[in-house]
Amino acid sequence: MSISEVKCPTCEKKVAWEPQSHWRPFCSERCKLIDLGEWASEGHRIAGEPAPENPHLDKEH
Ligand SMILES: [Zn+2]
Repeated sequence: MSISEVKCPTCEKKVAWEPQSHWRPFCSERCKLIDLGEWASEGHRIAGEPAPENPHLDKEH
């Protein structure tokens, strides 16, 4: 296993740490925006969103 993996801070999905993972350490742009939005807006208003395990997030490549 030579590929490093990190956990997406938003949904805790594993993300390969490699150039094609554009949103690392996030698994997707969406997770990045969610994370940014959490502290840019008023706290955790999106905390209840089912961001994890959405199969569509994987299909960006
Ligand atoms: Zn994620």
